[in-house]
Amino acid sequence: MITALYPGTFDPVHNGHIDIARRSARLWDRVIIAVYDRPNKKLLFDAAERAALFAEAVRDIPNAEVVTYSGLTVEFARQVGARVMVRGLRAISDFEYEFQIALTNKKLAPDIEFCALMTSLDYAFLSASILKEVAMLGGDISSMCPPHVAEALRRRARERGLGGFVSHVERV
Ligand code: ADP
Repeated sequence: MITALYPGTFDPVHNGHIDIARRSARLWDRVIIAVYDRPNKKLLFDAAERAALFAEAVRDIPNAEVVTYSGLTVEFARQVGARVMVRGLRAISDFEYEFQIALTNKKLAPDIEFCALMTSLDYAFLSASILKEVAMLGGDISSMCPPHVAEALRRRARERGLGGFVSHVERV
């Protein structure tokens, strides 16, 4: 039985992430989606919220589960018995970063294989930052993430006093 680990920040999960998770679940026996607890990034959702949003999105995939973790990803992979680490690759811009991470991880854990799945064409443009930016400005995000994620984003936007796009034209 092969367990694959799909680690990431997922702040929040979007259709590009879900697509990678679904395709991974078809390739490997068990997929553990691992939500990294405290990345060096400004976050909109805490780890428990990010995990709950992803868990709801993959509720129908029997061999996928979602957990949160902290510390070194390769250590966590070993802890859960994962032999494969999956990442998604968007455009050329992702490649250099992912290549560097993969080689670093390979040095730290030669026993774990790194596998990058190419994004599906429909999601090639999509990133969590783009999704958040559009959501915070009140744009239509229904084609980018599941409805429960869109709702969570709208709620967060309201809490922060954002979400309503006001068009403003100033004449001089
Ligand atoms: P990071 O883990 O680098 O903070 P994310 O949490 O946003 O980034 O993404 C987790 C993984 O999902 C990464 O491997 C990333 O390349 C991949 N990913 C992000 N957006 C997409 C997308 N639109 N299509 C496919 N894979 C994606």
